[in-house]
Formats: sequence, structure tokens, C-alpha cells
Amino acid sequence: MAAKLIDGRTVAKEYKEKLALRAQALVESGVTPHLAVVLVGENPASQVYVRNKENACIKAGIRSTVIRLEESCTQAALEETVEKLNADQSVHGILVQLPLPRHLDEARVLRLIDPDKDVDGFHAMNSGRLMNGQKGFVPCTPLGVMELLRAYDIPVEGRHAVVIGRSNIVGKPQAMLLLHANATVTVCHSRTQNLAEITRQADILVAAVGRAGFVTADMVKPGAAVIDVGINRVDGKIVGDVDFEAVSEVAGYLTPVPGGVGQMTIAMLLANTLDAAERCGR
Ligand code: NAP
Repeated sequence: MAAKLIDGRTVAKEYKEKLALRAQALVESGVTPHLAVVLVGENPASQVYVRNKENACIKAGIRSTVIRLEESCTQAALEETVEKLNADQSVHGILVQLPLPRHLDEARVLRLIDPDKDVDGFHAMNSGRLMNGQKGFVPCTPLGVMELLRAYDIPVEGRHAVVIGRSNIVGKPQAMLLLHANATVTVCHSRTQNLAEITRQADILVAAVGRAGFVTADMVKPGAAVIDVGINRVDGKIVGDVDFEAVSEVAGYLTPVPGGVGQMTIAMLLANTLDAAERCGR
């Protein structure tokens, strides 16, 4: 294997230790950082994600409240829950676990979250702030990717970064963060022509597609940093978007799945919650 492995587990652990100190300082100043998570229904993956978030909060010294609503919950009941959390001054961060059951209007609910408590960074106000280079909440996964690049001293400025995927949660904010870090950024998607030709130009290649083994060795420039955001379940195993074995022979750096980007997402959620609490405590 030629590529250096980017160890998200270790980076996230060290990052969370620093966050715990920030949480402790807040508590000592009389502010208990508090994240409220709204979970609707019984989606098994969502249950696991919420439990992981809850445990991470507890470990870091952040108060965590999970509000569980029935699968059959109405739009009005969900909106009322969010409004209550908006008004609750003890709550600094609000997260509505996605996906919501199909009968609920996700976009409407996300719009309702107070942008200053929107620790997932999905509110249009925060997307706008990111676009304009203003301070706001940035979605946790792309933020985590930037932290990994920083942790491994991977240069971004002046480099060509190619992002595959243009979702509001990963691809677009990722492209924006790389642009703010002075990379030259190309965003690819399902209508991109000659994809491999473009990805082969990337010094930094971020895959956020949602297809197992999508990025093959011939799509990667020798020595490139390849960041695999994908989480795909294949035969009961979690794998990324990158053909790990083959790409590890070509890339300079590579994130494993699991143990890469996923580890950073929760760390960034905690960081966003502390940012919210610190702003509030001032
Ligand atoms: P998404 O909303 O489904 O977006 C996928 C993107 O991939 C779309 O922009 C799509 O293009 C593009 N795409 C699909 N097929 C393609 C193809 N053949 N060629 C080029 N582009 C193609 O997914 P997402 O929410 O961004 O998530 C992406 C992956 O990251 C998923 O596996 C998800 O589970 C994972 N994820 C991981 C974390 C983490 O913590 N590690 C967090 C969030 C998401 P179009 O726009 O043209 O359709």
C-alpha cells in the first residue's frame, strides 16, 4: 500500500479531548452546553446515529436531550416541538435527525430551526453565510473533512480539489469550504461528462456519491489525497465510495471507511454545539 492512511479515529479522539476542555470551561462559567436532538419514528440507522451523538455529548460534558416522536407524528406536532426548542434558552443546539418519515415536510422543518441553534448547518441562512464567507454553522461532514486535511498538513491552497457530489449536506458545502481555503474547485455530479478525466486532475479528491467502490484507481492522480465520504452497506458491511484496495496503491493519502470521515462528523457536531453555547454565554 502506497497511500498514507488518514486515521479519522485518532484525529477525532484528540479533537474531542480539546472539546471536552471547552465544555468544562463553559460549565465553570455557568453555561451548560446543551444539544437537543429530535428523532421521529423507528428508522434503525437513525436510532444508531442518535445514540452515538448522545454518547459523544455525554463523554464531552455536553448535555444531550433526545425528543422521540412517534412515526405517525403530524407536521404540526413536529413543528411545535422545534418551536419549543427554539424558545428554550437552556438549549444551544437543535438537530432534527434525517430522514424524516415521508409524510413530513423536511424542508419546512429545517427552515423553522433558529439559525443560531442550527448546529447541523442545514438552514438556508447558514448556507448563505457559508457562501458569503460569513460566520455561521457549517454542515458537520464537510467541516470534518477540512479538519482531516489540516491534521495531516495536506496543502489546499492553490491545489485542484475535485468534489464528486453536489448535495446540500456534503458536496456543495465541501466545495465552498475548499474554495474559501483557496483551492481551485471542480464539482462533479451525475451529469458530468468524462468524469475520470476530471478526477485524474485532482490533488484532493472528495467522493460523496453514495455508491460502493465508485472511485476506481484509474480515476486517481498518483499521490492525490482521496477523501471517502461515502457510507454504503454491502453484505452487512459498511464500505465507502472508493475502491479502497486499488486506490490505496495510487493515492498519496486515503481515508478508510469506517474509521475516516464518519468519525469526524460527530466531533464537528459537538464543536458546533459548543460554538453556539459560547456565543450565548457571552
Ligand atoms: P446524495 O444527496 O444522494 O448526493 C449524491 C451525489 O452524488 C449527487 O450530487 C449525485 O449527482 C452524485 N452522483 C450520483 N451518481 C453519480 C455518478 N454516476 N457520477 C457522478 N456523481 C454522481 O448523497 P449525500 O447526502 O451527499 O451523501 C453522499 C454519501 O456520503 C452517502 O454515501 C452518504 O451516506 C454519505 N454521508 C456520509 C456522512 C459521514 O458522516 N461520513 C455524512 C453524510 C453523508 P446529482 O446531483 O446529479 O444527482
